[in-house]
Amino acid sequence: MLINYAYKLRPNITQSNKMSGWVDMLRSTYNWSLADRITQYNQQFFQGDYCDIRTRGEACPLTCFVSKNGASGEPWKDTKVDKDGKLKNPRRSAGDIQITGLPELKKARPWFSEIDSTVLQQNVKRLDTAYKNFFERQVASPSGEGRGFPKFKNRSNFTSFTYQMGVKVQGSKIYLPKLGWMRFFNSRVIPVCFTIKAATIRKRQDGWYVSIRIEDKTIPDYISKPLDEVNSILGCDMGITKLVHLSDRHQIDNPKFSTNKKAKRTLKIRQRRVSKKLKGSKNRKKAANKLGHFHKKITDKRVAYQWDIANKIVSKSVDAIALEDLNISGMLKRCKVKTDETTGRFLKNGQSRKKGLNRAISDASWSELILKIEYLAAKQGKVVIKINPIHSSQECRNCGHIDKSNRDGEKFICTECGYHEHADIGAAKTIRDRGFKIVRGDSAKLGVNHQNAQKVSPRSMSKRGEFGNLCKQDIKSVKS
Ligand SMILES: [Zn+2]
Repeated sequence: MLINYAYKLRPNITQSNKMSGWVDMLRSTYNWSLADRITQYNQQFFQGDYCDIRTRGEACPLTCFVSKNGASGEPWKDTKVDKDGKLKNPRRSAGDIQITGLPELKKARPWFSEIDSTVLQQNVKRLDTAYKNFFERQVASPSGEGRGFPKFKNRSNFTSFTYQMGVKVQGSKIYLPKLGWMRFFNSRVIPVCFTIKAATIRKRQDGWYVSIRIEDKTIPDYISKPLDEVNSILGCDMGITKLVHLSDRHQIDNPKFSTNKKAKRTLKIRQRRVSKKLKGSKNRKKAANKLGHFHKKITDKRVAYQWDIANKIVSKSVDAIALEDLNISGMLKRCKVKTDETTGRFLKNGQSRKKGLNRAISDASWSELILKIEYLAAKQGKVVIKINPIHSSQECRNCGHIDKSNRDGEKFICTECGYHEHADIGAAKTIRDRGFKIVRGDSAKLGVNHQNAQKVSPRSMSKRGEFGNLCKQDIKSVKS
């Protein structure tokens, strides 16, 4: 079994300065590697095969971003031929080539040799992972959810590095290669048989943290129930006014950690204090620190609350939990720009209204909650079923009539048969029933998995009562 334990580190000043320096250097190599791969790709694209003057290596532009600037200049991993006359390891990945280029980097920039070599390698592999995620999305859902093309990193989104080897823990001291022994808050003891696989050091607002990946091969992974043994399902409908509605009529409040009145006010004041200070001044830094601390406080509160409610949801006596498969990045999209055709001036497109909604969606952070529920459910052997939430709050549970006018705020009244109930609890029940359909196997219509998920577009979400995002023109087009 593979698990992660996170601790807060207590580095001394030399160590923390060193780590900050490492993060900056690693970020520059990360960005360089990314730029290198993009350049190589463009060369291939414009000049065809055998374009590279230095190596005359061939690369397929669509499947691999082979950079041929590596130290050895050899795009082939291994020239040995096996019995059938095929190359054993035909092609090195871009990551392999860039890793072999690292000694070259250390020669040219000697200060890089103070960084542990596995950290440098993991940094390149991190880019590999980013590419892998991007290609996976292209295959799985070309238009839908997933991660985009790898991005260039700046100080705010590149704050960590990973050790692959050499990390040791003794009592409340941890050994990090090239940084030495460092004290840490030993908040939970690593179980005896577990060995350390990797360690990621991360800088947060209030200091450095380490996440240690530990493994014990003798302990099996969590096993979840087979689908045909599922007898009871709990449906969860995520929302803004209430965070979760459950199909057993329970509701879970949404404290709106960053969008309630008080937090909004504090954020506004602290943000203004930062922007009023002179750029590059010490006072601006101090003010920015204060703002950051407040942001961290909000995050910590949200995480604690989510673990709490995830525990409550999972510990209910059911075999499975049905959740919506939400396309949250799609929901967070901005409204389209509207221009007046004759004058070319911009017209109101409803974005200022959408902004508040976007913030509320981000604040609710459903995807984080879903991850926590999945983790805890796996721990207890329960199944998590992801269902397609399309029309889940517009469908009548009595006659199946689907109409957006069925719903009026919190009330649900069917325009066909007059059936009425609480709209969100009804939606949670619909989600539960769709879960049952998947379990029983007739999931042809409603069942979704990540491959053929029929995602809810931001437009169809906007037709739900609580997501008011209809511009005037939209309303007209709906009516006509
Ligand atoms: Zn009805």
